[in-house]
Amino acid sequence: MKTTLETPKKNLTPQLMDSIQYIKGVGPRRAELFKRLGINTVEDALTHLPRRYEDRGNLKKISQIKYGEIETISGIVKAAGINVTTRKRMKIFELVVGDGTGIITAKWFNQPYMKNVFKIGQKVILNGKVKMNNYYGYGAEIDNPEYEIIDDDSDVLLHTGRIVPIYPETSGITSRQIRVIMKTILDTHQSQINDYLPSNILEQNKLMPLSAAFSEIHFPSAEKDIGLLNSGRSEMHRRLAFDEFFFLELGLALRKKDMEKEKRDALKINGELTKQLIDSLPFKLTSAQVRVIDEIKGDLTSPHPMNRLIQGDVGCGKTVVALSAMLMAIENSFQTAIMAPTEILAEQHYLNIKSLINKLSLKVILLTSSRKDKEDIKAVENGEANIVIGTHALIQDDIRFKKLSLAVIDEQHKFGVMQRGAIKKKGYNPDILIMTATPIPRTLAMSVYGDLDISVIDELPPGRTPIKTMKFYKSHRPEAFKLVKKEILQGRQCYVIYPLIEESEKVDLKAATEMAEHIKKDIFPEYNLGLLHGRIKTEEKEKIMKDFKEGRINILVSTTVIEVGIDVPNASVMLIEHAERFGLAQLHQLRGRVGRGQYQSYCLLMAEYPLSDDAKRRLDIMVKTNNGFDIAEEDLNIRGPGEFFGTRQSGLPELKNANILRDVKILEAARKEAFEFIKKDPLLSMPEHISLKTVLKQKWLEKLEMGAIS
Ligand code: ADP
Ligand code: MG
Repeated sequence: MKTTLETPKKNLTPQLMDSIQYIKGVGPRRAELFKRLGINTVEDALTHLPRRYEDRGNLKKISQIKYGEIETISGIVKAAGINVTTRKRMKIFELVVGDGTGIITAKWFNQPYMKNVFKIGQKVILNGKVKMNNYYGYGAEIDNPEYEIIDDDSDVLLHTGRIVPIYPETSGITSRQIRVIMKTILDTHQSQINDYLPSNILEQNKLMPLSAAFSEIHFPSAEKDIGLLNSGRSEMHRRLAFDEFFFLELGLALRKKDMEKEKRDALKINGELTKQLIDSLPFKLTSAQVRVIDEIKGDLTSPHPMNRLIQGDVGCGKTVVALSAMLMAIENSFQTAIMAPTEILAEQHYLNIKSLINKLSLKVILLTSSRKDKEDIKAVENGEANIVIGTHALIQDDIRFKKLSLAVIDEQHKFGVMQRGAIKKKGYNPDILIMTATPIPRTLAMSVYGDLDISVIDELPPGRTPIKTMKFYKSHRPEAFKLVKKEILQGRQCYVIYPLIEESEKVDLKAATEMAEHIKKDIFPEYNLGLLHGRIKTEEKEKIMKDFKEGRINILVSTTVIEVGIDVPNASVMLIEHAERFGLAQLHQLRGRVGRGQYQSYCLLMAEYPLSDDAKRRLDIMVKTNNGFDIAEEDLNIRGPGEFFGTRQSGLPELKNANILRDVKILEAARKEAFEFIKKDPLLSMPEHISLKTVLKQKWLEKLEMGAIS
């Protein structure tokens, strides 16, 4: 007999993690359909919240209902049968229901099986839009009503006669079916929903019990406010949002705590190299840059590794700041790395940084998947390489640093937490500096990047003229080209950008190539033109970029590979083809490629019909403002926070129902509680926190290395 002690199974309750398949009325076939809704387990089903609610609780007498209104009535089935229309041979099932004050006819079209559903004498509730019975020319009719059959007056109503939940559906599963299954789940599992939140947190934040939150959010009792329900602000929504945020913040708090425990020797910085760089720059640092460099210096001279995020709009000059930090590490004989999201950007950083420090005799190396020189890899390994620039090729197994002490991750929004972890492993508790141009409100940033210290560069270099943005429709293309020509004549350069979307890559690539040909042959035969896209080999790309940077190419036609980071101050026009196909963040990044020098720059948005409402809003805000913060806010409004933050790819637990914007107050409260909680019980080892710990682990899964608590 085994005598090992089993760890107590104090799960959220194991049954909630069961496959939905075993719920009565589901089975393997429907379980497959549920998967499409992201529902695998019973718990997934419980957190599949109604997308809206309908008030079908206001029962009327048939004599009181009005044509054109959505009404709910109850009555007795008086007659039922199938009629066949003569013209279209359509089978219509008709049900006549009376309540003593009048009768109403309900019709179902081409659903002859409905006749098996009803029996004469049954009590039913119907809900739907009332119209005049056009066969008789009088009397009321409802087509395809929602219905409910009442066998027994003590029956719980699900579909009518109450506030009814309407769910996100998928083909093969209707809201009606989901309601029935949800009811079954609540009947069988509600008692297993135990409340893992400590009672003081529940009380402090006036949160309702979890089990009641689930039952009431699916089947609200009559006194609930339908307005609050429909705006996702009911007390049930608040409880569930709090929980989602609480676990997110708990994970972040733990990670922060873990990181604070890490140690490495403090750097000794006299700043000689950094000073040489700054003295050689053709410009003066902005005070925001100086401040952030100082903050970084403070981190590097402390005995704990730095974990800092630099937020700053496109063009604010993050590269020099990062480079200054790198030089401080190099001064201490360490190696440094920059990881960029695309090859082009890595290449650009490489060229740029090499020229910025060309007097310092340091070894700078570029490593991407298409450029992996054996010699270079060796230089990384034996410590000769001072600065290693690359894509995620940097975090592959075959790259070993001798003494990496600082890793810079550029354009964090393109990477996730996982990559951050991977690059950390390349050194011994290295300093991490993350840079992002995705402007988000500070409170949100604190919460989403809650484990990082944050610096903001809130100032653009002086002397920049705001970019003028204009929207053109296809027929006005000649005007746009005229502006391009005018700029080139004045010695400026121009980008023409083509969208490239994965699904239609071939077509898009062809379009970009054809456009390049067309511009070259028919429009600007007198100018030099370059074509850049992802399929071009690295050396070729490098040459094209170099030619563009050094002014030998006048017009660079490119796909979005140049989206981030590219820096050619002489370029003053950005013409974006099919601007309606780009997202706002992308448009803003693209536009940030111009306006980098002292020249008036232009962003020409070429739009083609049909233009969706959202696309129109995107283009309009682009024309209206250059402010990344305003643009981000509009983006949030258009897309909603789930999409905006892309939590899926960021490696954070996904927020299923909480809404970072709508629920910002709840987020702040949850964050405060989570950080206090970790302060009190850093290992989550108190017995009363066991179930909470289990849930935390489930939520974060492998997304977080929670060494501390496992
Ligand atoms: P981003 O923050 O978007 O990464 P970059 O670091 O690429 O911006 O800088 C954009 C441009 O501004 C570059 O040409 C850079 O040399 C220049 N720049 C950076 N700091 C300053 C400054 N203080 N004054 C003038 N130009 C600057
Ligand atoms: Mg940059």
